[in-house]
Amino acid sequence: MIKVGISHCLLGAPVRFDGGHKQNRFCKESLADYFQFVPLCPEVGIGMGTPRKTLRLVGDVDSPRAVFGHDTSQDFTDDLVHYADKHLAQLQAMSGYVFCKGSPSCGTARVKVYNAKGYAQKSGVGVFAARVQQLMPLLPIEDDGRLNDPLLRDSFIKRVYIYHEWQQLLQDGLTVAKLQKFHARHKLNLLSHCQKTYRHLGPIVAKINKQNIAMESERYIHHLMMGFKKVATRKNNANVLMHLQGYLKHRLPTEDRQELAQLILDYRKGILPLLSPLTLLKHHFKHNKDAYIEQQSFLDPYPKELAIRVVMQ
Ligand code: SF4
Repeated sequence: MIKVGISHCLLGAPVRFDGGHKQNRFCKESLADYFQFVPLCPEVGIGMGTPRKTLRLVGDVDSPRAVFGHDTSQDFTDDLVHYADKHLAQLQAMSGYVFCKGSPSCGTARVKVYNAKGYAQKSGVGVFAARVQQLMPLLPIEDDGRLNDPLLRDSFIKRVYIYHEWQQLLQDGLTVAKLQKFHARHKLNLLSHCQKTYRHLGPIVAKINKQNIAMESERYIHHLMMGFKKVATRKNNANVLMHLQGYLKHRLPTEDRQELAQLILDYRKGILPLLSPLTLLKHHFKHNKDAYIEQQSFLDPYPKELAIRVVMQ
């Protein structure tokens, strides 16, 4: 099962400063069926009790310190950084991480950082989350608040699956042929997220050879993961659907072609969900096999039961 890190409080563990939790239903009830969550609470992990005084970030927004309220005599920043360092091996085995929103330890963005006058600027990153990102810059991360948005949810889950596939490729030994196959498989999926990255990666892949694969593959996966961070818009998805439709041009009767075109149009207008034209396309490709299309992750980026929950919840 794919390993994904998670702030322990999001799974319902009573580890928050007030002895409570922040259980996230989508993680606990849906993602937990597909991912093996690895729960970590850095504050409890560095020896803080529960309940405890609240931590807050102070000082420079780019390198804030984690202290108890107004009391700067005790500084927990280094402890939180070391806690992440200590878990490096565990982090390297993960394919994603869900952090708790707004936390001075776990928040991934928009965390309050207080200046000397006591005013807060909401643009910091939690100390533990920042260190995890430094150690594992490619690791797909998201916070629980953003997972409420179906588009961001979809982007995160896709990134987890793609990154996991990449980790397995590396583990098995990456070759030029394997990288080209990987790229071909995710090409249309990427096109739905970021056209610019799609155009940028083609020439990079074309130039990869035995000699430069170690360096160029790092460049490649960096751009690919960044590209998938952009959400797949309706317009981009519709373009990919039309592209796929093109493969069926000479294989379907007029009536079926018109039906498919109408579904794509209705999806583009926001009348139908993506699953509608996608399901019909898959049905047609089942009866009109095409080796290139069959391998496309755009059609099945992750298990279909999970796809329904991503849209519905
Ligand atoms: S946000 Fe992070 S540090 Fe705070 S309780 Fe949850 S897991 Fe622990």
